[in-house]
Amino acid sequence: MKSTIKFGSVSGIGLFVHWTFLVMMVGIFGFYVYNGLSVVASLMGLALVMTVFGCIVLHELGHAFMARSFKIPTIDITMYPIGGVARLSHMPREPKQEFLIAIAGPAVNLGIAAVLYVVNQIIGAPLSMAEALTPQGNVLSMLMWLNLGLVVFNMLPAFPMDGGRVLRAALATQMDYTNATHVACLIGQGLAFVFAIYGIFYGMWTLPFVAVFVFMAARQEVQHVVERG
Ligand SMILES: [Zn+2]
Repeated sequence: MKSTIKFGSVSGIGLFVHWTFLVMMVGIFGFYVYNGLSVVASLMGLALVMTVFGCIVLHELGHAFMARSFKIPTIDITMYPIGGVARLSHMPREPKQEFLIAIAGPAVNLGIAAVLYVVNQIIGAPLSMAEALTPQGNVLSMLMWLNLGLVVFNMLPAFPMDGGRVLRAALATQMDYTNATHVACLIGQGLAFVFAIYGIFYGMWTLPFVAVFVFMAARQEVQHVVERG
């Protein structure tokens, strides 16, 4: 059984959603209705979630087009509930190329945020985060902050986040690739450890789970690089 559904393609790159993504959308809709929102309001909430995922698709296309400029094809882009994945045919070992491909995704979100900042200035929408991130907040300033959030989240210096690749590429200019991977993974795991402790102390229970995920991803990356030699 196919676990993904194609919903479009951009310049020959197929865009897919994983079935769990659709389950999540139905779940969010159900959650809104269950909490007393009208069907119209629930659909509008869903539209906002879809818009954020649209921004993530553009982020993945940023990686894909930068990779293409180095003659590295993208197999496909798939959206999961936790985010998107652009599957490249391979990752370059050239630090400068890896750096540019990794940074291209967050750069797209930074660009979207910059455009929304200008638009919000023109229409006189409130720009503060406190005002934007309320149910009554202006949708465009909300989207601006969500895109900035995507930049910060993706630039965390830990695999599998883009920031982990940026860090490794920076280290790889000073040492060999395998050592750079080891150091980048140690930093990422250290960060995951701090997040886990923080989450346990402050009762933010998703953080320890994310930390375990980051911890395993870092180990996988080291294994992957060591196997390829
Ligand atoms: Zn990315």
